[in-house]
Amino acid sequence: MDWFKRAKDGLKPQKKKEIPELWIKCSSCEEVIYKRELEKNLHVCAECGFHFRIKSSDYIKYLLDDGHFDEFNAEIGSVDFLKFKASKRYSDQIKAAVKKTGQKDAIRTGFGKIHAHEVVFCVMDFSFIGGSMGSVVGEKIARAIDEAIKRKLPLIIISASGGARMMEGAISLMQLAKTSSRLAKFAETGYPFISIITDPTTGGVTASFAMLGDFILAEPGALIAFAGPRVIKQTIGQDLPEGFQRAEFQLSHGFIDSVVKRHEMKDRLRDILEFSTDNQFDEENTNGELNNENLLVNSPGPAESSLDDDQTN
Ligand SMILES: [Zn+2]
Repeated sequence: MDWFKRAKDGLKPQKKKEIPELWIKCSSCEEVIYKRELEKNLHVCAECGFHFRIKSSDYIKYLLDDGHFDEFNAEIGSVDFLKFKASKRYSDQIKAAVKKTGQKDAIRTGFGKIHAHEVVFCVMDFSFIGGSMGSVVGEKIARAIDEAIKRKLPLIIISASGGARMMEGAISLMQLAKTSSRLAKFAETGYPFISIITDPTTGGVTASFAMLGDFILAEPGALIAFAGPRVIKQTIGQDLPEGFQRAEFQLSHGFIDSVVKRHEMKDRLRDILEFSTDNQFDEENTNGELNNENLLVNSPGPAESSLDDDQTN
């Protein structure tokens, strides 16, 4: 009987209107931003200064001279040697991540120049299985460090990682020791290792190479943690202070050396590279002592007042 059935199609549910692809909402201030404008501004919200997560290719473009990156070991990819399966098969996760990012794993390593200073440059991709460090990430970092040792070059690693890749079990944890011991060897060369921490850097990456830099820089607002705030809150059953584990918090607690805005990162790297690789022992100025205050606290020119007062302590 028609009483109980709908004889004709009535109103059809309307599709929820979504913001078109050209626009993106800032997750901090909720401002709707035209994507092109955001790209022009290095993926930093012009309204509130929020630093969006970006890809390795963006860092290469923003930081290296002419965006030129001479990549090595790009062909090394992960293997599912434990035949690991949780909610998904690890082998499927690798395949999906390769397809999504066009890369074989969560880090790219190579040579590049920063204001004409040649460096070994490594940059992680959070979009590749959460930037997790498995055997490939560890191996590529180790080889990059070997290149830096062999060619006597400064080393720069940009981190973005959820930590060790648990799908590779104990092998992923061994990468902490592997990368750390290689860095100890690199330290003997006297060349600088600059660690740049971006949002988020947690777990095994924080517990190894990211925190071993001669200079540890972080982007504003980056989460820098071993265990994240949610886990800590559940464990201790207390509310956490505002901005807990963010870059500015970690700076004020002595974990990192400086918070550097994306727009100022390249120039800051140049300053550090010039300071630490050129002959800085100018007797007239320093009496043979290195003075790094200049580097991390003061900007080189009046146009670059990049540090807030509270970061200079
Ligand atoms: Zn914003």
